Amino acid sequence: MIATEPAGAAVSRRPSEQDWDAAVAAVRTGLRPGARVLLVCHVNPDGDALGSMLGFAQGLRQLGVESLQCTFPGPLTVPAPLHMPAMDLLVPESEADPAPDLLVTFDAASEGRLGSLVDRLETAEASVVLDHHASNTGFGKVSLVDPYAAATSVVAAELLRRLGVTLDRGIAECLYIALVTDTGSFKFDLTTPEVHELAARLVATGIGVGEISRRIFDNRPFGAIRLFGEVLGRAELDPAAAGGRGLVIAVATLDDLAKHEQPPYVLEALIDSVRCTAEADVALLLKQVAPAEWAVSMRSKGGADVSLIAVALGGGGHRLAAGFTGRGTAAEVISAVRERLAEQD
Ligand code: 5GP
Ligand code: MN
Repeated sequence: MIATEPAGAAVSRRPSEQDWDAAVAAVRTGLRPGARVLLVCHVNPDGDALGSMLGFAQGLRQLGVESLQCTFPGPLTVPAPLHMPAMDLLVPESEADPAPDLLVTFDAASEGRLGSLVDRLETAEASVVLDHHASNTGFGKVSLVDPYAAATSVVAAELLRRLGVTLDRGIAECLYIALVTDTGSFKFDLTTPEVHELAARLVATGIGVGEISRRIFDNRPFGAIRLFGEVLGRAELDPAAAGGRGLVIAVATLDDLAKHEQPPYVLEALIDSVRCTAEADVALLLKQVAPAEWAVSMRSKGGADVSLIAVALGGGGHRLAAGFTGRGTAAEVISAVRERLAEQD
């Protein structure tokens, strides 16, 4: 089901049958006896990046792949709420095969999101880019990007189906975590009948949806509750911004994290509280990662295309959810966003 075309999209069409055939053929390179397969997802992986990668990995195992590594750039830490099956396949990037027979990337919209692992796009015999970001830059030999898919796991599940993989509980748990996180628990606009059909097939394997949901979403240290309260208490609303549709801004600093003794990942859920603001179409959250560096999350309810802002500022994402790395003071990063937002009026 195709809704409105993603505005400003680098990728605006769904994969064709030829694209699927090319992806299946490339993956078969990794099914040859003795072939070495490397799966990579984006830096600072979220549920969709990790879940689609680890779900796909289990599908390849079912097809007989023995030499299989999963990795992502940066420290090999996975936040507790995102622990899932097949994490034993994770290796640090330093141990990743330098020249695998097959490389598959997950949820990475640009080469930069693969960090130092980007060279495997050159050294791998075959490679497939699995993604769903409209801002995808079209990198990789075989690019399987569906900008209308609610999650990369939707694309991964279809590729597994075409490869003849039977969904089992382990695969299903990973793909479900990916799907439930990227759809905001089946609430976002790309939650199509196909998404619910996939969810039904995943749930039918016997996974515990209540337990998964509690673990991922309803599971926050008390310190994080107080940290959220403090950051939200300082949030600012500008009803005149975004063409009069409103902008809400929140800033979480390293001092906030230190004061409440919280790791940075707890802030991933904070944008969901900020974006609830009824008086604002656009929500902006700055999460400090170094004195002059900010992980920036943006959300829109439809009046603005935040992926255009993110791409212009060196990041990426979707029309209604996007992000980038901001540099300078918080005020400078906020002004840069405001300027780009004003251009959309
Ligand atoms: P979040 O705000 O939840 O971190 O990310 C929202 C969306 O924007 C996700 O689709 C994510 O992949 C994308 N995104 C967030 N930060 C960046 C970034 O620094 N670079 C790129 N290319 N995409 C980002
Ligand atoms: Mn995703």
